[in-house]
Amino acid sequence: MPRPRPALLLGAPIMAAAALGQVWARKFLPVPRLLCGASRYASSNFKAADLQVLRTEEPQKKPSPSEPLAFGKTFTDHMLMVEWSGDQGWSQPRIQPFQNLLLHPACSALHYSLQIFEGMKAFKSQDQQVRLFRPWLNMDRMLRSAQRLCLPTFDKGELLECIRRLIEVDKDWVPEAAGTSLYVRPVLIGNQPSLGVGVASEALLYVILCPVSSYFPGDAMTPVSLLADPTYIRAWVGGVGDYKLGGNYGPTVLVQQEAQKKGCEQVLWLYGPDQQLTEVGTMNIFVYWTHEDGVLELLTPPLDSVILPGVVRQSLLDLARSWGEFRVVERKITMKELLRALEEGRVREVFGSGTACQVCPVHGILYEGQKLHIPTMENGPELALRFQKELRAIQYGTNAHEWILQV
Ligand SMILES: *Cc1c(COP(=O)(O)O)cnc(C)c1O
Repeated sequence: MPRPRPALLLGAPIMAAAALGQVWARKFLPVPRLLCGASRYASSNFKAADLQVLRTEEPQKKPSPSEPLAFGKTFTDHMLMVEWSGDQGWSQPRIQPFQNLLLHPACSALHYSLQIFEGMKAFKSQDQQVRLFRPWLNMDRMLRSAQRLCLPTFDKGELLECIRRLIEVDKDWVPEAAGTSLYVRPVLIGNQPSLGVGVASEALLYVILCPVSSYFPGDAMTPVSLLADPTYIRAWVGGVGDYKLGGNYGPTVLVQQEAQKKGCEQVLWLYGPDQQLTEVGTMNIFVYWTHEDGVLELLTPPLDSVILPGVVRQSLLDLARSWGEFRVVERKITMKELLRALEEGRVREVFGSGTACQVCPVHGILYEGQKLHIPTMENGPELALRFQKELRAIQYGTNAHEWILQV
């Protein structure tokens, strides 16, 4: 199903805070009514208006701005928690002190990977605004993932408003230094206390927050090299690689370790007999090159079920299309095509895209025992740096923007 693309309204007028409700309600993809499993139940949606806020009595010490933060190891003082059961529907949403979960040992998330997650970032601008980047797309994707695992559905606008309130409570945790941000991790797990494989009768939705350092210190970009080994397959047609399910990631750890043993930082996931390039680690992949027909183009594989629909992927496509300076295409790309283009000197840049790094240049690929050099860095990387700069201007900017939800 093609995803409708939101219109790019650069420089949109500043919206009054009071109108925020309408702003976010209008930006989500429509939800197919028949797929709303939980609408059978009385409390089929939780509401941000019912939020209970329990503040911590033991606030933790915030990390000092000078100390680098390892990704995902430091958490803020509070979390969002909403419980669901088949009988009762959703409970009242709660902002509560950050705490451990107490789970039944048969919890279905632990046994059968009934677990989905999201990842997005909030940025602090110079005027101390906290800004979420395109969170509507994360909510759309999260609901899709929930439906794929028969987990309870929810109102995307209400969840986003709860997340906004959570960030508001912990806003002093959003770091300010250049390139830093607050990583937002929503999770939905099946929590049925029994061992049968089936639709979970209970679930937990929670959101935790981590202040994170800049992925690349300063304006520089550090390139990565990739292991391309077709024996490992991340996702396949008819599978679930295009959903953010926890179950997709556990099996990749071994391959990532294999890549590191061979001196590479990340895995280049190939697919099919023609060895299509699909993704880089947990990032989407982009190739900026001159196509065989002589036309300069930016290329990324289409969303055809083996590709995760990345928010940054969509944003790079939207930006490049709005510039109109080169061809922008979503099309398959194979190792054979890449090898030929490298030989003929047509490749300008290869990079990954994702929330963690935004844009990450690739300078080498280890393929069939051979180290292929990709001239991304020699070429600037002009396009990767331009994307990084444009995204940062929107994320850390002080102007309203169609892609920003102000907290
Ligand atoms: C999360 C993810 C991405 C990137 O998605 P963003 O929304 O841009 O962060 C790409 N590929 C995989 C496999 C992912 O899990």
